[in-house]
Amino acid sequence: MSEARIIDGKAFAADLRGKIAEGVADVRARHALVPGLAVVLVGEDPASQVYVRNKGEQTREAGMHSVTHRLPADTTQDALLRLVDQLNHDPSIHGILVQLPLPAHIDSAAVLAAIDPAKDVDGFHVVNAGRLAVGLPALVPCTPLGCLMLLKDTVGSLRGLHAVVVGRSNIVGKPMAQLLLQADCTVTVAHSRTVDLAETCRRADILVAAVGRPEMVRGDWIKEGAVVIDVGINRVPARDPAAAAAGKTRLVGDVAFEEAKAFAGAITPVPGGVGPMTIACLLLNTLTAACRSRGLELPP
Ligand code: NDP
Repeated sequence: MSEARIIDGKAFAADLRGKIAEGVADVRARHALVPGLAVVLVGEDPASQVYVRNKGEQTREAGMHSVTHRLPADTTQDALLRLVDQLNHDPSIHGILVQLPLPAHIDSAAVLAAIDPAKDVDGFHVVNAGRLAVGLPALVPCTPLGCLMLLKDTVGSLRGLHAVVVGRSNIVGKPMAQLLLQADCTVTVAHSRTVDLAETCRRADILVAAVGRPEMVRGDWIKEGAVVIDVGINRVPARDPAAAAAGKTRLVGDVAFEEAKAFAGAITPVPGGVGPMTIACLLLNTLTAACRSRGLELPP
């Protein structure tokens, strides 16, 4: 049994961002088109603040127009909907991202539904979910799009492979399953009511874990040589008991990485696997939305 190849999502994402920056430079030079992304943050959630800052920095680094709207936690739903409407009509903005979670008094579904589907770079609008499901061009949710890119880079053609997706959320599990179907995989979607999850996972040539439970997928759930994509981001106490007692934490995925390495053919680490692909795909979606707004050919 040989040890798994570690899929370097950080390097892949850096390379992708470089290609996107080239695409942006090209549309700026040839079409005077500056792709623009507006990110809306409501409230003070610390993790969201970090994500939003990173998104802004990487958008600017790619040569795009970047706008961040930071709104107080007591912003009303009406005020947020007015801002979304304003961004929908702003010709300098091609992508709109409303950072989730929103404060409890705001109906997230209503806000996501108000975003112009052509500017919905998160791919969460039902129009984009529907277009993806029926195989029409869509803006595809960033995390599963990033997973698919890593898989294609690792495996090549996915045709005929059995993919098991653990998790059926609208933002990861379901669109992941749709993308794998489009890539001609045979797809099984598992969830909290799946009977004998371990046995289901053992049948996977490709295993995508998007559950949100630290190290739930054990090494012996993995078929020898399978490609494992770990979407989970879970914060757990640090290994060192003294550090843990001092409140130090570390990130782990949904897969028990050390065990899984002994079985998998290739595996994404956490951190440094899927995570960096998410923002890179957000930039890609923004470039795609900008090109489509002018009827231009999409970047390769
Ligand atoms: P959700 O909580 O929305 O969905 C979790 C899914 O896992 C549900 O479908 C649930 O099943 C299923 N599930 C929960 N417990 C079990 C179990 N014991 N056995 C089998 N299935 C189970 O999470 P998300 O999809 O939003 O996120 C999943 C993980 O991915 C999280 O760790 C999140 O932090 C991470 N994430 C990472 C991103 C990145 O950029 N790398 C981006 C987005 C998410 P059911 O439907 O039956 O309840």
